[in-house]
Amino acid sequence: MKNFLKNPWTIGIGTAILSVILMRILDKIADTKLLFGLWTIIKKIILFFDKKYVVSLWFLILISFSAFLIVVLYFYLKSLFSNEKENINDPFFLNYTSDNFDGVLYKWRYFKNYDKYSSTDYMAYCPKDNCILLHNRCSICGTYFTNIHDNSKLAVLIGHKIENNLFQK
Ligand SMILES: [Zn+2]
Repeated sequence: MKNFLKNPWTIGIGTAILSVILMRILDKIADTKLLFGLWTIIKKIILFFDKKYVVSLWFLILISFSAFLIVVLYFYLKSLFSNEKENINDPFFLNYTSDNFDGVLYKWRYFKNYDKYSSTDYMAYCPKDNCILLHNRCSICGTYFTNIHDNSKLAVLIGHKIENNLFQK
């Protein structure tokens, strides 16, 4: 019963029947011509859409062709727009996440702040062993690195490579 009441057909038909009954009651009570008036309006609408026109074949072809053109144009413009959006969302440098600066390998990622990407989470690695440095020392080969750059210098170095297109793609 619950499903029957929730069914859109039940609701639609039920509403239609109820509104007719309601208008009938209103007719009786207020002696208005509500139902008749509504029927007149519906008849006018039906007559309006029932009008017949004589059109030539070339006009029909032109209409169909225009509709086709509009659809094509719509998808063309949409693809242009979405490409542009993709470029903004996915800048060319997002795969550039590691580099060697002065003998130390650094890896990082990017974070997005509104439309701007910034590098972050810089990690220093031994370039020979590809191992994260622990207190500036490589746990594999024992090399001690004295020239580890701080975050702000790395941000500048990475930004410089991106801006001047100097990084390996
Ligand atoms: Zn090492």
